[in-house]
Amino acid sequence: MDSLPATRIEIDLDALRHNFRLAGEYAAGRDLLAVVKADAYGHGAVRAAQTLAGEGAELFGVAHLGEAAPLRQAGIDRPILLFCGVRPGEEDQVLKLRLTPMLFDLGLAERLDGLAANAGIRQPVHLKIDTGMGRVGFRPEELPEVLERLRQLSHLELEGVVSHLALADERDNPFSEEQYACFRACLRQVREAGFSPRWVHLSNSAALYSRDFPECNLSRPGISLYGGLPGPGFADLDLRPVMHVRSSIAQLKQVPAGTGVSYGHRFTTGRPTRLAAVPVGYADGYSRRFSNCGEVLIRGCRMPVVGTVCMNWTLVDVTDLPEVAVGDRVTFLGRDGDALLRGSDLAAKIGTIDYELYCSLGSHNERVYEG
Ligand SMILES: *Cc1c(COP(=O)(O)O)cnc(C)c1O
Repeated sequence: MDSLPATRIEIDLDALRHNFRLAGEYAAGRDLLAVVKADAYGHGAVRAAQTLAGEGAELFGVAHLGEAAPLRQAGIDRPILLFCGVRPGEEDQVLKLRLTPMLFDLGLAERLDGLAANAGIRQPVHLKIDTGMGRVGFRPEELPEVLERLRQLSHLELEGVVSHLALADERDNPFSEEQYACFRACLRQVREAGFSPRWVHLSNSAALYSRDFPECNLSRPGISLYGGLPGPGFADLDLRPVMHVRSSIAQLKQVPAGTGVSYGHRFTTGRPTRLAAVPVGYADGYSRRFSNCGEVLIRGCRMPVVGTVCMNWTLVDVTDLPEVAVGDRVTFLGRDGDALLRGSDLAAKIGTIDYELYCSLGSHNERVYEG
């Protein structure tokens, strides 16, 4: 017999559609590339991409080749960008699966050009420029040489020009405008070198929802599609959480004041206490850092996690909810009735961001799709 998972994740596809439509309103006529890297931030890339293709996503973005193949197998036909480029040995697959690498390496450009020449096609690439993120991409001062070399590679098609913002989540930080100014200067050089890129793009979710870059015609939202807030100044946006993490109470017990709870007795009850044991732990992607500081939803109420989070168990103080029973639903992330545990609020408790929470919980647990 199949066993039922102790923890499961409900993915609300209607909320995903809603968030995509909201992105469309802010994009104001520009196209959208839906970022579905890291298995759609733990939400399941195939279902997310199928749903968003139905809503009109023009392109998709993944990190690696291995993430693109399942999308093609599932019938996703739109262009797919490889954010992390292509490693030596993967080039054949890029052509076979009709993928579009972000280009930040001339060696790759030459290898792809050779393969494309043999195949009698033009291989699309998006030129990645580092305008201030300080991560990957050609530096602006390298551009003249890069463009000169690309002009000789006649089987590559420079279909896009891309950069990425370092501080867009800080709504008022002027550095994003500096990066945009640098990006425009780079674009001018690209055009003067004789290229006419179809796509020009800079914005992640934070920029899509807070800035206007008139020269860009494509935005690349990720986190906001999944209902995550792109930064602290974005709480007013009508973004709906897509991921809801559920388990249920396995045991309830009454203990006296002064009882040590869980490994290390890092919590001692200060009053007669009713403890609920829930079979979720760090093996399920629920971080051990939630020890003594996490919160869960039971019957629509926020209840505190007490003691150390174990590999497979978390303890919750339910003294203030006398009606609680074994089998009651416990929500670790997302909505329960009118109550909501937002990813960004939870993440802040343990010094991380909702992106990491979604990836961690999403990759460890079975998903059920709704809507
Ligand atoms: C992850 C990523 C995005 C999406 O960013 P969000 O903050 O999730 O909207 C966009 N562009 C690039 C290059 C990325 O790596």
